[in-house]
Amino acid sequence: MVLSSPQKAFQSKYRIPYNKPFLTGRELEYIQQAVQQGQISGNGAFTKRCHEWFRKRYGFQHNLLTTSCTDALEMCALLLDIGPRDEVILPAYTFVSTANAFALRGAKLRFADSMAANPNICPNSVEKLITKKTKAIVIVHYGGSACDMERLLQIAKAHNIAIVEDAAHAIDSFYKGAPLGSLGTLGTFSFHETKNIFCGEGGLLVVNDPALWQRAEILWEKGTNRAAFARGETQKYCWIDLGSSFLPPEVTSAFLMSQLEHITEIQAKRVKIWHGYNERVRDLVERGCFSLPEVPEYATVNGHLFAILTRDIEQRDALIDLFEEKLVKAIFHYLPLNESPYFTKGKKPVVLPNARRYAETLVRLPFFYEITESEMDEVVGVLREFYK
Ligand SMILES: *Cc1c(COP(=O)(O)O)cnc(C)c1O
Repeated sequence: MVLSSPQKAFQSKYRIPYNKPFLTGRELEYIQQAVQQGQISGNGAFTKRCHEWFRKRYGFQHNLLTTSCTDALEMCALLLDIGPRDEVILPAYTFVSTANAFALRGAKLRFADSMAANPNICPNSVEKLITKKTKAIVIVHYGGSACDMERLLQIAKAHNIAIVEDAAHAIDSFYKGAPLGSLGTLGTFSFHETKNIFCGEGGLLVVNDPALWQRAEILWEKGTNRAAFARGETQKYCWIDLGSSFLPPEVTSAFLMSQLEHITEIQAKRVKIWHGYNERVRDLVERGCFSLPEVPEYATVNGHLFAILTRDIEQRDALIDLFEEKLVKAIFHYLPLNESPYFTKGKKPVVLPNARRYAETLVRLPFFYEITESEMDEVVGVLREFYK
């Protein structure tokens, strides 16, 4: 693979940044092709190639590129007809888009805690939140490692509730061999610049319930039957449902296509980086300096991120300060959404202890395709200095 940073000199005040976007080689060539083909708007040749690629690679029979994972999640809320009388269960420890998509439809959000062993949603916590009004359970495969799908699918089935997999971190990761994004009613992915495979801003909706497919295509095309019209399946092109502008332009799909063609190399490298960190910190973990989120037997590592768990927030802050001093960018992650100003509206939140603990103690180490072995030595060197 021809590999280069987008700018020759990647601008960062950090000697080792947290993330660094890179090109696989054909992004600009494909964009040029897209422009020359004369259709620069969406649902053209490159978009169709990407759809076909996802069908072949992961068996996502019904999939649609979107302008972001946020948009794909908003499509999920529309597809499931979520409204003000409905409750949606979701993890507190997640990105704001997981919640916003359903809050926008007026749903009542019920936040579940994380597991003790890792930041993924805890099935026991989910079970306690189920009521007659629960319409969907949204789950996030944190760091790309699968949630406890057997339990979650069981709960959903017993109560006839949909599951939405927010698989924003989880491209090319599996649960007992099944690709993440293929297990719920609906699945969503992100191709934001900070994710394993990217096109700047972009996403994917995977529709696993065939009954929702026809409508998905309509919502995607601003609530019209334009896609069916373009295929010659209908005489008229009209407004038939809700919708929005969820489809990306061809320029975006062209960029993404180049990245997808290199996914095998990208993933092999990222998984290698993950194991590189895992081996380098093993003795520190054995000495009890910090711990690592558990990767359960049913899950895989997809090299999305590498996180450590410090003893407490004071230790976390002191460690991040030392990284800053060395110009190495290590960062914490989510603040629990149930404690956020928008959700609490000034009221005292009910603390979810595991989510709170991850918010206070989780630190992500620099993680990008081009990170070198010696840079990883240096990152772990900072940990060694801190815990000496
Ligand atoms: C990145 C991310 C999103 C949002 O993705 P966009 O493509 O930026 O909209 C949603 N959920 C999770 C868990 C994410 O990490």
